[in-house]
This record gives sequence, structure tokens and C-alpha cells, in this order.
Amino acid sequence: MASRCPECAGKMTYNPDLKCMVCNSCGLSLNRFELDNYWQKIRNQNLDNLDESERKKKRKKDWLDWYAKSKDDKQKY
Ligand SMILES: [Zn+2]
Repeated sequence: MASRCPECAGKMTYNPDLKCMVCNSCGLSLNRFELDNYWQKIRNQNLDNLDESERKKKRKKDWLDWYAKSKDDKQKY
């Protein structure tokens, strides 16, 4: 089974001596359990980031609505 390094997205290979997955790129070594936890943590972080970017999008939309409205107001005068 090929795994991706949660730190650098490098290829991880199983090292039978260490009994864990070792990243070929950065040398991060995690056993399967730690690797699962690591990914879970990252997935949760990504969800947080998604929420944050959604919030930003909404803020931008609010601002655009306000801008469009204020432009309408200006045209009245
Ligand atoms: Zn790595």
C-alpha cells in the first residue's frame, strides 16, 4: 500500500525494521495508527480552512451587495 506523507505529500514506504511508514522525501516515520491520526487531524484542519474560506467568500459577497446597493443609492441623486 502506497501512502502519502502528511507533511510533504512525498511517497511513504513501509520500513519493516522500524515497523512504520517512512517518508522518502522528509524522513517522517509514523506507524499506521499514527499515520491515520495524522491524516484525520489534517482532514479536520482542512475542514476548518474550508469554513474559513467560505466565510471569506460570504464576506466578499456581503461587501459586493453593499457596493451594488450604494451604487444604486448614488444613482438616485
Ligand atoms: Zn514527508
